[in-house]
Amino acid sequence: MAAQDYDLIFLGGGPAGYQGAIRAAQLGLRVAVIEDTDLGGVCLNQGCIPTKAIRASAEILYQARQAKDYGIVISEARPDMNAIINRKNRIVTLLREEIANLFAANKITLYNGRGKFVSPREIRINESGPVVKGSKIVITTGSRPKLPAAFANPIPGVVTSQAMLDVDILPETLLIIGGGIVGLEIASIAAALGSQVTVLEEREQMLPKEDRETVAYLEGLMKSQGIKLINAATEVEAGTQTKDGVTVSLANGDTHAAQLVVLAAGRLPNTTDIGLENTGLDYAGGFIPVNEHMETEVKNIFAAGDVVGGWLLAHVAFMEGIIVAEHAAGLPSSMDYRVVPRCLFTFPEYASVGLSEEEAQRLHPAQAFTYPLQSHGMAQALGAAEGMVKLVVHTMTGEILGGHVIGPHASELVSEIALAMRNKVMPSGIINTIHIHPTMAEAVLEVAQASSRKSIHSMPRS
Ligand SMILES: Cc1cc2nc3c(=O)[nH]c(=O)nc-3n(C[C@H](O)[C@H](O)[C@H](O)COP(=O)(O)OP(=O)(O)OC[C@H]3O[C@@H](n4cnc5c(N)ncnc54)[C@H](O)[C@@H]3O)c2cc1C
Repeated sequence: MAAQDYDLIFLGGGPAGYQGAIRAAQLGLRVAVIEDTDLGGVCLNQGCIPTKAIRASAEILYQARQAKDYGIVISEARPDMNAIINRKNRIVTLLREEIANLFAANKITLYNGRGKFVSPREIRINESGPVVKGSKIVITTGSRPKLPAAFANPIPGVVTSQAMLDVDILPETLLIIGGGIVGLEIASIAAALGSQVTVLEEREQMLPKEDRETVAYLEGLMKSQGIKLINAATEVEAGTQTKDGVTVSLANGDTHAAQLVVLAAGRLPNTTDIGLENTGLDYAGGFIPVNEHMETEVKNIFAAGDVVGGWLLAHVAFMEGIIVAEHAAGLPSSMDYRVVPRCLFTFPEYASVGLSEEEAQRLHPAQAFTYPLQSHGMAQALGAAEGMVKLVVHTMTGEILGGHVIGPHASELVSEIALAMRNKVMPSGIINTIHIHPTMAEAVLEVAQASSRKSIHSMPRS
């Protein structure tokens, strides 16, 4: 079959691929996307959206259990896992169809199949399918769960973080291997639904790259909810199926038993078996290095999303896909990783942007200011006053270097700090902006005020 010509081809229709494709089509390029399974990638089908849909159900249960504190009597609240998973599936299907509609409306050609480079400009779809040719090609193949060596072979009762989202029988006991964003989020959701959860993390703190004080606060909250967090756990040596579930043995001899084990110990880039050897890019099995325009070292081959490493987050992948599209269309767009917000939808939410206090103080003269939510009007009204907002500020210039939030809607609040950082708005710019009362957003105002010794709802420093 003759090769089809496009200006830009995305290999993978996840967040980086589908948003990049739509932006490229807006800019008038002839665009194709090759997708092996489902449009929307891990984020839409097995990540961000399914977890948030299930979390929304868990939140209702979580709140129902506290209903008495709000003066509401609910005689029985319990999860119906089948209905929760069905609701999640309906949401995912609807959003997937939306992307397909957007592709059609933007005249983007979608090829369903597995793509493999046969030359730096050509991709074959499936073993003997058509070859499509692109002036420029973007590798947006994403990532997959990394399996600890002990679980290289499947063991019944051990699932990946992605497969966990289709488990429709709530396990009584759940052991999660990995205390990063994905592991803690699943821990929090499962505990809210009623599982007894233990998390094993090899490093000294959960979320090892995040601000120490804020993570310690979150760890305290999760423990108070009955979640067992084990830091500095030694390596997992073996997993054995038992009649009640699985027993996991660690290198130091400790064992942990649970009905279900979830693997959330990092991710690997999808760079094997995509024909990289035919492009001159020697990174099969590894993350692909790129410059600020997402260009690889081979001319006219770009890469974006999880496959380039760094923060493996959908909103980073979105932006990288868009940067590729704009650069390919001749616009002067480039990535700036200084302001990357991170989010963790635990109960309550955790979100951060920029540098932790420790990193900031290693790199700059920097000071941190905190505002606890106890005296915050909206937090109290919501019955969710456990949490804090922290701002890390350059001592000499006043520039905001980092923001860390625990509390209701933390992931929304951190966007204001991100916007300020990206546009070099000083804390005074936040202070001079009237914030609606009562809102959680006022907590950002208060911490900005605190950084100028103007906080209204914090006790004066002696
Ligand atoms: C449980 C979980 C929860 C998460 N929650 C969040 C969250 O709340 N917020 C957030 O920002 N991030 C979250 N993430 C991370 C987010 O899902 C990823 O960062 C994001 O999906 C990366 O997008 P991507 O386009 O790089 O790759 P992917 O989403 O991995 O998409 C890559 C696509 O390429 C396709 N593909 C691969 N190889 C080929 C090939 N050879 N031919 C054709 N197609 C191919 C795949 O089928 C896939 O659809 C979560 C992840 C997990 C696992």
